[in-house]
Amino acid sequence: MSHSLPNSKSPGTSALPESLAELVIPDAYINGRWVGAEKRFAVTNPATGEVLADVADLDADAAREAVAAADAAWPAWRKLTAKQRANLLRAWFDAIMAHQEDLARLMTLEQGKPLAESRGEVAYGASFVEFYAEEAKRIAGETLPGHGPDKRILVFREPIGVVAAITPWNFPLAMITRKCAPALAAGCPVVIKPAEATPLTALALAKLAEDVGFPAGVLNVVTASHPAAIGEVLTTDPRVRKISFTGSTPVGKKLLAQCAGTVKKASLELGGNAPFIVFDDADLDAAVEGAIASKFRNSGQTCVCTNRFLIQTGVYDAFAEKLAARVTTLGVGNGLEDGIVQGPLINAAAVDKVQSHIADAMEKGARLICGGETHALGGTFFQPTVIADVTAEMRVAREETFGPLAPLFRFETVDEAIAMANATEFGLAAYFYARDYKRIWHVMEGLEYGMVAVNEGILSTELAPFGGVKESGLGREGSRHGLDEYTELKYVCIGGL
Ligand code: NAD
Repeated sequence: MSHSLPNSKSPGTSALPESLAELVIPDAYINGRWVGAEKRFAVTNPATGEVLADVADLDADAAREAVAAADAAWPAWRKLTAKQRANLLRAWFDAIMAHQEDLARLMTLEQGKPLAESRGEVAYGASFVEFYAEEAKRIAGETLPGHGPDKRILVFREPIGVVAAITPWNFPLAMITRKCAPALAAGCPVVIKPAEATPLTALALAKLAEDVGFPAGVLNVVTASHPAAIGEVLTTDPRVRKISFTGSTPVGKKLLAQCAGTVKKASLELGGNAPFIVFDDADLDAAVEGAIASKFRNSGQTCVCTNRFLIQTGVYDAFAEKLAARVTTLGVGNGLEDGIVQGPLINAAAVDKVQSHIADAMEKGARLICGGETHALGGTFFQPTVIADVTAEMRVAREETFGPLAPLFRFETVDEAIAMANATEFGLAAYFYARDYKRIWHVMEGLEYGMVAVNEGILSTELAPFGGVKESGLGREGSRHGLDEYTELKYVCIGGL
C-alpha cells in the first residue's frame, strides 16, 4: 500500500469533469490521510459504460488500520462538547449544500439517477447532518428515585464507540449521512465502507469533511471491490462497537451472524416488498401520482419502492388504464439530460432480474399492459413496465424486483388486502390510498410494516424514524430515535446517602 499526501490529485479521475475531479480523490481516507493502493477498481457510468475513476482497492489490513484510527480518535472526539461536534457537523452540512450541484452531477454519473433526483438526495442526505448537529445537543440522561432511602439512580447516555457503516449503491450519499451524522454527533467515530459501484460520492463527502476540519480518524472511508474481507474485519474486530448496514437481506443476515462473536450491536436496513393498496374509494388520480413516485423513482431501485400494487376490483381497470397512460410518458435516458425521469439500472444483473420477473409472470398468466422490454437506448436502460392479472404464485409476489416493473394484483375486500399485504417476510414500507376514515384507521393498524404512507407516495424524511420490521431490519434511522442507536445507557447507583 502506498500513501499519498492529503489533497494530492490523482490521475485516476481523468474521466470526471475538472470541477468534480477536485472533489474526488480516488484513494481511501484513513486517519486524515488519503491512502492509495497498487490494486485499483474501475467505477463506471451506468448510462454510458465509461470509466469515471480507478479507485484504491483496499484489503483487510487497511480496514484494521481504519478501525485503529477510529479507536484512537474516540477519546478526544467523545470529550468534545456536543456543541463543538455540532459546529463541525454544521460546517459539513454547509459544505455539502454549497457543493449540491457538483455532488448531484457526481452521483448521476456514478449511479445513473436523474439529476433532479440527485439534487434531491444531496439535500435529503445533508438534512441528516443538519438535524443531528442540533439533536445531539439534547441527548439527556435521567435521575430516578432510588430503591432505598440512601440510594439514587443516575442514567447516563454515552456514545457507543467506533461505528462501522456499510452502505448500498442506490443512495450513495444519503445512506452515508443517515448513519454518520447521528454517530458523529453522539460522539462516535466512523469507518465507512461504501458500495463498490458508488464510492466516489463517499470520497467527496470525506473530502468535504476534511476541508471543514474534522479531526484525523473521526471519519474514515475504506474503498474495496471485494467487500467480504472488509466486512469480516468490521464485524469481528472488538474495537468496533456497532455496525450499521443498509443493503440486501442476505448480506445483512450474514453480517448479523458475524457480529455474534463479539456481541456487536447492529442496525440493519434491509430489503422490502412494499405493497401499494388502492381501495375503491381512493382518489385515483392522486393514487397514480403516488404510484409513479413510489415505483419509478431511482428506476425502481429503492428499498421503499412499491413492489406490489394491490388494487380493489371496482377500480382495477380504471387504475390500470390511468397508470399505464402516465407510465408511457416517463422520459427514459441519461440522467444528465433534461426531462429524464428514469435513468439506467445499475448493472446487467439488475436488468436480468427485472426480465426474469416479467417472464415468470407472463408464463403464469399475467398480461402485459405497457413496456416489458429492454429500452431502445441499449445498455441497462429498461422500459417502465406495467403488468396486470398478477397472482401470489408469481415470483414478483415474494421477491423484491428492484427495477421499473409495476405488477397489478386484484383483491375484493379490505381484510383480503391487509392479508395480502402482510403475506411476506418483509415489513419495510407500505402505501395505501383510501378516503373513508374508518377504513384508513383499520388498514393503518392492520399493516405489519415499519412505515405506512396514507394517500402519499413518498415518506422518507430526516424528521421521522425510518426502518422495518420482520426481515426488513433492526433499528431506526432519522428522528431522535436514530440517535439512540449510537448511545448506550449507563446506570450508576449512588449509595450511602
Ligand atoms: P448489497 O447487500 O449487495 O450491498 C450493500 C453493501 O454491502 C455494499 O457496500 C456491499 O459492498 C456490501 N457487502 C456485500 N457483501 C458483503 C459482505 N459479505 N460483507 C460485507 N459487506 C458486504 O446490497 P445492494 O445491492 O448494494 O443494495 C440493494 C439492497 O439494499 C436492496 O435489497 C434494498 O432493498 C436494500 N436497501 C435497503 C434500504 C433500507 O433502508 N432498508 C435502503 C437502500 C437499499
